[in-house]
Amino acid sequence: MLRLAVVGKDVSASSSPQMHTFILRGMGKRCSYEKVSVAPAEFSVHAEELFRRFDAFNVTIPFKGEIIPYLKELKGDARIFGAVNTVLARERIGCNTDGFGFSMMLENAGYLCAGKRVLVLGAGGAGRSCIKMLSASGAEVFVYERNEERLMSVYRELGGFDPLTEVPCVPYDFIVNCTGIGMHDTVGKTPTVIYEGGRVMPVGEELLSQCGGAVDLIYVPEESKFLRIARECGKPTLSGGAMLFYQAYCADCIILGRKPDPAAAKVLWEKYREENP
Ligand code: NAP
Repeated sequence: MLRLAVVGKDVSASSSPQMHTFILRGMGKRCSYEKVSVAPAEFSVHAEELFRRFDAFNVTIPFKGEIIPYLKELKGDARIFGAVNTVLARERIGCNTDGFGFSMMLENAGYLCAGKRVLVLGAGGAGRSCIKMLSASGAEVFVYERNEERLMSVYRELGGFDPLTEVPCVPYDFIVNCTGIGMHDTVGKTPTVIYEGGRVMPVGEELLSQCGGAVDLIYVPEESKFLRIARECGKPTLSGGAMLFYQAYCADCIILGRKPDPAAAKVLWEKYREENP
């Protein structure tokens, strides 16, 4: 029986135990899965204990970087971005599966990236993983981020996209909201952007009515205002719940040492949704 956990500042409402237990059961493994909430000032006191108590653990806000000094090796995106969401305790290896989850969500929803014009809004932690994955898939990527210093730093780090300080209001094959605007205290809002020409406006029909589809990393609410506007314009939409599930699936594949299988993951996701409407 695998001993697993999610560690964050306040994970009391986290769906990780339910999701990982479901996925692992689907992969033929049993696990115990705990929620461990730790006050940021006390992280260093509790960190070592995590390695003793668990075979592997997931890490969330605000410890994705804090855990790094306790690890021996960072793999893939975790190394590139300095952010870890999955830890193999015995080996002290840190990984990050956000990009894999995003990629699997698009693939399983039939979004093809190669040659597509994709606008990404927001280049924070998750945005960077999405940008990297989109560029690697051959998309023509445009990134708008309101923090210009961060935009240019991500550009220097990753390259492979057009950094935008103003958004041209033109057709994109799809637009991805990675800003987090539309959840928590911003429910009912869309990200405000500077359009070409200097107009500052929340993203709305003007831009979304021209796109081929809209994707939001937000999963609560299931339909953000950004997605609602796109849907009302008759556009296909994709909410971040599938990405959350697929990044958990990819984390569990790492824990079990298995190769992720998008088709098998899709079957699990559909069953999970059916059982957890
Ligand atoms: P983050 O690191 O705070 O990044 C958000 C970025 O968007 C920041 O750079 C922020 O800039 C920028 N931003 C905010 N408002 C903007 C605007 N109006 N225009 C342009 N840029 C703007 O957050 P994160 O960890 O990347 O998370 C982003 C979202 O992804 C959240 O909703 C999170 O829940 C979601 N997420 C989902 C999954 C999933 O599996 N579905 C996984 C990871 C994250 P400032 O710093 O100036 O505010």
